[in-house]
Amino acid sequence: MDESKQRLSDILNKGLLQLGIKPGPRSEEKVLIYVNELIDWSQKINLTAIKVPEDIIVKHFLDSLVCLKEIVLDEEKAPKLLDIGTGAGFPGLPLKIFCPDLSVSLMEATGKKIRFLEELLKKLDIKDVSILHGRAEELSKKMELQEKFDIVVIRAVGELKLLVKHSFPFIKNGGCLLALKGVIIDEEVAKSQKDLKKMKGLIDKILDYELISGKKGKLIKIVKGNVNG
Ligand code: SAH
Repeated sequence: MDESKQRLSDILNKGLLQLGIKPGPRSEEKVLIYVNELIDWSQKINLTAIKVPEDIIVKHFLDSLVCLKEIVLDEEKAPKLLDIGTGAGFPGLPLKIFCPDLSVSLMEATGKKIRFLEELLKKLDIKDVSILHGRAEELSKKMELQEKFDIVVIRAVGELKLLVKHSFPFIKNGGCLLALKGVIIDEEVAKSQKDLKKMKGLIDKILDYELISGKKGKLIKIVKGNVNG
């Protein structure tokens, strides 16, 4: 392995250790391919403002993987996860790479990003991820997508109030929304209360986290409906 690959591998493994995540057999190889593709495509289309490989590992991959703290894998049935406004695949695709048993769907409104995701999945040799092209508010009208997901993950798409509105139609009763946020959330949490009540949503927990770079954030878990069914 050359020196730069080794450095990326070290950062990734240090971050995984800190998050308590075990790497899978081909997860590191896939992350390195992903980073290369992301940098390559970013020269043509607007995919990420972060262009340094080390920063991509921390700010995109490790940040996405924080969601695994709240994802329970049932031995019998793989949870169905939907990533709304996935952009270049975050957080949904890193979750699939480190947790291949998850059933993952990626939803994105921009056609160019959809083409990137399609090509990327081929390069990563991942066949069981579905890509949904369109806006959440339109796609939620499709019966086959309504209340079909155990978990919706969202990062960097908008205010909590909007995320609840966009995600809830897709979530099964008893399922949850996991929203990755910055540290300042009090105001948007307060603004979302009325809608949460109306839509039978409950903030289950707000988890503070810190990445190896020192970047801090919060993971908000909102449960839909009656948890017991
Ligand atoms: N989640 C990614 C991308 C964030 S940028 C990340 O964390 O890096 C926000 C993305 O959401 C953009 O790609 C935008 O096209 C998409 N988006 C915004 N509103 C949307 C909607 N209503 N439905 C589907 N995608 C949406």
